[in-house]
Amino acid sequence: MKCRCGRRAVYYRRFEGSALCKKCFLKSIEKKVKRTVRNNKLIRPGDRIAFALSGGKDSSAVLYLMHEIISPRRDMEMFAITIDEGISSYRPKTIKAAKKLCKELGIEHYVFSFKDFFGKTLDQKVKEIKNCEIKEPCTYCGVGRRYVLNLKARELGATKICTGHNLDDEVQSIIMNYIRGDILRAGRLGPVTDFSIRKKHGKMFIPRIKPLREIPEKEIALYIMLKNMDISWDECPYASGIRFDVRDFINNLEKKYPGTKYTILYAFDKIVPYIRKASVFKEGEILKCKKCGEPASGEVCKACELWKA
Ligand code: SF4
Ligand code: ZN
Ligand code: ZN
Repeated sequence: MKCRCGRRAVYYRRFEGSALCKKCFLKSIEKKVKRTVRNNKLIRPGDRIAFALSGGKDSSAVLYLMHEIISPRRDMEMFAITIDEGISSYRPKTIKAAKKLCKELGIEHYVFSFKDFFGKTLDQKVKEIKNCEIKEPCTYCGVGRRYVLNLKARELGATKICTGHNLDDEVQSIIMNYIRGDILRAGRLGPVTDFSIRKKHGKMFIPRIKPLREIPEKEIALYIMLKNMDISWDECPYASGIRFDVRDFINNLEKKYPGTKYTILYAFDKIVPYIRKASVFKEGEILKCKKCGEPASGEVCKACELWKA
């Protein structure tokens, strides 16, 4: 197959029906990310952006792509934070990759661990939760990571947190919220999550941006490979739960009906403003956690409930 430009194609984009050479493919990704950033006003002069960097493909790609956009500008800053959850068979390798990438790009880099914050690693926690009501490691991991990331990004003066969420992640989250019947929670999705718009203690929350939410996961993987970026391809040993069943379900649909993922995303984007209006009314105010002083939706925040009990 040949690309429109006449070069040999390296990729066939099924939902568009177009074959792309290496050069045109890389350019198409860079263009799409710039368009997402521009259309959703993800960055502004004066921003100091914290990148949540795991060292895996998505967070490494977003750091690299956004560095291309931000580094020529004098009115913005960026730095990276890696959270070490304490997964001994997996995390050390990704931390090494994260350090290497930051060094190559000249980006300041911080690593914070669950062990320091909560007194134990995720590996230790997993052994403890066998008899608990909530058994999925990902729940403990996700709550802990968001907590440390928000707190540390704020302390380090970040105006935004940038994450590597891709199209697949976003669509999975949309469908998961439907399956759980948690439509109000779905109001937290979208290219920007900014609780400070509507919450009393909103300044405690650093808004989050997702420049890769319109890029399919496999295109990010191809981008990394074509750029010869040295990242970690390992998968977390604890990856389990509903998200992975939803992932297979959506991938099957996409295979049969190319473009399904985009249809789900764009249809959802149209209703998200209405969900957000409803959630301001229903969710009420964010409170301060009695234990740690961080924002909470009840008396105690989720991190204290799951990690400091
Ligand atoms: Fe944490 Fe689950 Fe991701 Fe592993 S797969 S890093 S346990 S959220
Ligand atoms: Zn081409
Ligand atoms: Zn707390």
